[in-house]
Amino acid sequence: MTSLYGFTQEGLEAWLGERGHRKFHAMQAWESLYRKRVRDFAGMEAAGVKPEVARLLEESYAIGTLEEHTRQESVDGTVKFLFRLQDGNLIETVLMKHKFGLSVCVTTQVGCNIGCSFCASGLLAKSRDLTAGEIAEQIMRVQLFLDDAGQGQRVSHIVVMGIGEPFDNYAHLMDFLAIVQHPKGLAIGPRHITVSTSGLTAKIRDFADSGVPANLAVSLHAPNDELRTRIMKINKAYPIAKLLDSIDYYLERTRRRITLEYILLADVNDRREEAQQLAELVRSRPQLLKLANVNLIPYNPVDEHSQYRRSAQDAIDGFYDVLKKNGVSVSVRLEHGADIDAACGQLRSKQLRGGEGKEPAAAGV
Ligand code: SF4
Repeated sequence: MTSLYGFTQEGLEAWLGERGHRKFHAMQAWESLYRKRVRDFAGMEAAGVKPEVARLLEESYAIGTLEEHTRQESVDGTVKFLFRLQDGNLIETVLMKHKFGLSVCVTTQVGCNIGCSFCASGLLAKSRDLTAGEIAEQIMRVQLFLDDAGQGQRVSHIVVMGIGEPFDNYAHLMDFLAIVQHPKGLAIGPRHITVSTSGLTAKIRDFADSGVPANLAVSLHAPNDELRTRIMKINKAYPIAKLLDSIDYYLERTRRRITLEYILLADVNDRREEAQQLAELVRSRPQLLKLANVNLIPYNPVDEHSQYRRSAQDAIDGFYDVLKKNGVSVSVRLEHGADIDAACGQLRSKQLRGGEGKEPAAAGV
């Protein structure tokens, strides 16, 4: 069955319009899903949706297709969900509590073809893209979990940083952004949404042209091509100069701030020498210096990549200081859920090692 959550508001209106129903009835159905958060079609009717409309939708769609497989809750309030898709594949979604609100990190693909060498998820090639409905439902399932807790909490922020490269699933990503931002639905403001890419340069330009004012984060992870190619093989196709050109284009078009993600790997990319190179790279592009924030991410070791270790605290501090002294805006990412499977994809990868969940088919980059 296809998920009703995959419709944009305009898509739902068009689908019902073709079947003789007015815009007003489509809006009622939309609001029942996202405002009243009905869980079935009987609930939709009870919420005031015209019975013929609810029944018509029920014939072709399901309200949600994800099944909760596992849930892990951390003492710091982080909650990791493992959902089973209709085809048996498992995906991971994370709820994080911050001072500024509640954010959800969503997955966009089953597996990932980018193959970052530090990433547990990247070991399994992409078997398919998630639909817009499967991405949007991750938000809804977390929201329904919060609704059940009865404290009136709302998902306020979204980070598209889970498993997968969102720009490799661009059309579904854009529909997902339209769904969660719609003012008569979840109404999550674009400035509360961050999309993270490994650096697909053409898509960075498309995103700039799209006019969607969501935040952009780009995974840099190294200050030179030799090192970045070792850490991220995608650098062969999109080397640093090309990547920075596309970021310049994005900054020129949008005038928005951007985040450069930098995962700190002990004795690989965390020395003062690399910090200095990174500072020079940022300083070489005036717009980047003005609008970029470097987000340092201390590495969470995973069993699959024993060659990498977490940086010592003095290395993290030293790296930070070099950037700061060079006038580069810098922050260190706070850790969430350290007592559960903290690294991205770790919970899913553990389940797959244990023989659960479908193994994705092999695919090339
Ligand atoms: S870090 Fe992200 S882009 Fe890189 S392999 Fe993992 S899921 Fe893919």
